Amino acid sequence: MSVDRSTIWPYRDGEPGAFYYQRYAHPTGVEAERELGRLDGGHALLFSSGTAAATAVVLAFLSPGETIALAEGAYFGTSVLFRELERWGLRYVEFDQTGPPPDDADLVWLEAPSNPFLTMPDLEAAASHPARVLVDATAATPVYLRPLEHGTDFVLHSATKYLAGHDDVLLGAVVCKREDDAARLHELRTHTGIGAAPDPAYLLLRGLRTLELRVRRQTETATELARRLSDHPAVQTVRYAGIGGLLSFDVAGAEEARRVETSLQLITNATSLGGVHSVLEARARWEPERVPAGLLRLSVGLEPADELWRDLEQALASG
Ligand code: PLP
Repeated sequence: MSVDRSTIWPYRDGEPGAFYYQRYAHPTGVEAERELGRLDGGHALLFSSGTAAATAVVLAFLSPGETIALAEGAYFGTSVLFRELERWGLRYVEFDQTGPPPDDADLVWLEAPSNPFLTMPDLEAAASHPARVLVDATAATPVYLRPLEHGTDFVLHSATKYLAGHDDVLLGAVVCKREDDAARLHELRTHTGIGAAPDPAYLLLRGLRTLELRVRRQTETATELARRLSDHPAVQTVRYAGIGGLLSFDVAGAEEARRVETSLQLITNATSLGGVHSVLEARARWEPERVPAGLLRLSVGLEPADELWRDLEQALASG
C-alpha cells in the first residue's frame, strides 16, 4: 500500500465517509492497526510514541485519586510519566511483577520483559486481579508473547523499537481486548490529538513484514552472547529473559562501563533498542538511582554473533 497523506477527504452527497479528517482516522493508520491487531489478537490503535500511548491509557481509564500498580524495574520513562500525572491526582505504587499485584490497584501495569532488568511478569496472577491489566510487551513483541491470550486487557508497544525495527520512526500502540475499550481510547486519542501520522504508520507496516525474521535472529544471537558474557571474567551479572534481543550485564563500576562504551567499534554507543543495528549504553546516565553504575544494556541487532562477540571482547578487555 502507498501512503495517503491527505488531512481531508471529500464528503459524498453531503455526508462524511469512513475518512474525513486525519486526526480521527486515516487509511494507512487503519491498515497498520489491522495488521498489529491481528498479530496481538485484539483491537489496535496507533499513537505518536509509546509514551503517548501510555498517556492515553491513563487518561482514558483512570480518574483522580485512583492508583496504578507499576512493575518495579520497568522502563524508567513510564514512572517519569506517572510522576508527571501525580499533579492531576493520579497515584502510583511499584510492586514485584513476579508475584501478585497489590489489592488496591485500579490499573495494573506490567512489562515483559522489563527494561533493563529483564524480569518476566506473572501474567496469571495479574489476570485474576479485578482491575484492568496492561502489559508493555515492547521487548517481547507478539512473536514471543500475546498477553491478551493470558487474560489481560491491554498490550502496549513502543513501536519505535522492534515493531518498526530500524531506528527511524517514533511510534506507539495499544492493543485492546475489548472493543468498547478500543472505542473509548480512539475517542480520547481524537480529543487529545496524540495519534500517529500516515508516514510512521507506513513504516510500521513495512517493519511488520520482517518482524518475525528479525526477532528470531536477534533472539538466537542474544542467547549466544548472554552465554558467552556469563563466562567472561569482567562480567558480574547477565540478565536475559530467553526471548528477544534485549539483555543487560554488569561490569565492575562506572569507570569500567565508560571504557566499554567508548571502546566499541561495531556496536553503536547509543540509547534505545529494537533496531537492526546493535546498540549498547550504560543506563546509569539516565536512571542512576535505580540501576547499578556498571549496568550495560545491549540491544542485539542483525550482525553476525561472532562479530558482535569480537567487539564486546575487545571492549571488555579495555576495561
Ligand atoms: N516502553 C518501553 C519498554 C520502552 O523501552 C520505551 C522506550 O524506551 C517506551 C515504552 C516509550 O516509548 P517511546 O520512546 O516510543 O515513547
